[in-house]
Amino acid sequence: MRAADGGMSRHDPTVTATPPVVLRDLHVVGRTGHVDGPVDVRLQEGRITAVGPRVAGDGSRDVDMAGVFAMAGVVDCHTHLAVSSTDVVEILATPASVRTLQAADAARRTVRAGVTFARDAGGADAGLRAGLVRGLAEGPSLQISVVMISRTGGHADGHLPELDLELAADGRIPPPGGPGHLVDSVDDVRRVVRQVLRAGGEWIKLCATGEIASDFDDPLAPELSEAELSTAVVEAAVRGRRVMVHAYGGEGLDNALAAGVASIEHGTLLTERQARRMARQGTFLVPTMSVLEGAVQSAREGQMPDSHRAKTLAIAPRLAEVLPIASSAGVAVALGSDAAEHSAHGRNLAEIAALRRGGLPAHDCLRAATIEGARLLGIDDTRGAIEPGMIADLALLDEDPSDCLCFDRDDVVTGVIQNGRWVVRHPRA
Ligand SMILES: [Zn+2]
Repeated sequence: MRAADGGMSRHDPTVTATPPVVLRDLHVVGRTGHVDGPVDVRLQEGRITAVGPRVAGDGSRDVDMAGVFAMAGVVDCHTHLAVSSTDVVEILATPASVRTLQAADAARRTVRAGVTFARDAGGADAGLRAGLVRGLAEGPSLQISVVMISRTGGHADGHLPELDLELAADGRIPPPGGPGHLVDSVDDVRRVVRQVLRAGGEWIKLCATGEIASDFDDPLAPELSEAELSTAVVEAAVRGRRVMVHAYGGEGLDNALAAGVASIEHGTLLTERQARRMARQGTFLVPTMSVLEGAVQSAREGQMPDSHRAKTLAIAPRLAEVLPIASSAGVAVALGSDAAEHSAHGRNLAEIAALRRGGLPAHDCLRAATIEGARLLGIDDTRGAIEPGMIADLALLDEDPSDCLCFDRDDVVTGVIQNGRWVVRHPRA
């Protein structure tokens, strides 16, 4: 397929081969989530080609990395790169050109924080993904869901009644040619899922329950039926795609599990019975703890409308309970920052510390950020571990990340390599 790559394949003799780089004496977070090493890691042509003690250089450029720690590039399974504000008035007053530049800025901040691969949970379109692939902006490799789908009046319905303006969950006026986002029947689900697939979505994102930060809905109230969710799973599977579902708990979460979705987003009110079913079915939990911590803090400080405040305070005790329930049942946990504010993009790794505070064992927090996220996204053959054959995506730190709480600090990542190239050059390199 020479036309597709413009005739510039990796085997083209006119393309200059870059010499390998060997990072010497690096401590690495292994597949188990424990720190190993020191080892040498050789990178060539965007791949990790050798890992071990005393790796041969073969004309390589060697970098002394004694005392430096590396983990595989972080996989963020739930971000919103195209959302920089949740203030509807501000969003409506922002020109589309500025919003595009804000998304590029969010992508840059995200990859520079150490996230080399991300799944967008609503907002990012195929154009943003293509722009990043073409190198028009720095950013993570991306899988997208395009829109958040919900019932009329549900979590992703941003309708402004005074203006009778249909807004998406991110507060934007949906583009005329884009997929719809409201479904009220199995037939609606089938049509909208097909529209998302037409728009290039790798994922279908649906809201199976309400939300805490909203006026009318409830985190335990089901918003889509089992039949509607099953239709989404079946339609997505026709194209080899999968479904991610916003669900806090209750019947809506049961409906999602019965439908066979790939991941539950938030899941804060998960019961032990539901956790056992998730473990049995291999359903991932993406608990988005850091935004929930932030919401609880805002509620306690009174910086929240009353309608949101009561619901947020009601889930507060669950932040210490949900991860022990999931973990002891054997549920696979993957990291999702749920970043949807300008200040949150680039603070994605704070979620690792939040997972730890939530009671997930430290090595599982590091796994959630790397290999488990890669497994959820179906990319674990090339990402999520520092092993020969993997794509050379790495996050470097000048300290041992084993306690995970270091990720609360913005400056913890001191080097980022994506596809074998420095995005943030470590001072030693
Ligand atoms: Zn989200």
